[in-house]
Amino acid sequence: MRKKLTSANASVPSDPKSITHYHAHVYYDPASTRDRAARLRDRVAEAFPKATLGRWHDELVGPHPRSMYQVAFPRALLATFLPWLMLNRDGLTILVHPETGDDLADHTDHAAWLGGILRLRLGVFRRA
Ligand code: ZN
Repeated sequence: MRKKLTSANASVPSDPKSITHYHAHVYYDPASTRDRAARLRDRVAEAFPKATLGRWHDELVGPHPRSMYQVAFPRALLATFLPWLMLNRDGLTILVHPETGDDLADHTDHAAWLGGILRLRLGVFRRA
């Protein structure tokens, strides 16, 4: 017998088919770890040509509390790219999140962190 859930949020399980693609945000410190981030970026480009490398953001953008660049990648790449990142992140902190269309949930409840958890600037997701 299946138990009926009472919480409104948990009443219907979310379908992973709602995920269109993923982002990995690679955080770095421009003064001390930019070179490592660059090396990782080169390795990603070589090993995962289907991943799309975003621009360098030394200045803070969106919810991100540190300098970072984004790697967008298709669903089919998750099973190979995620373990590769686990083994090759070189001490860098990385946020991996799905894109389901719900920006706030994707960066919080749906997020996976490698190396640490940073406090994101979630105010950017609040509706005006
Ligand atoms: Zn993202």
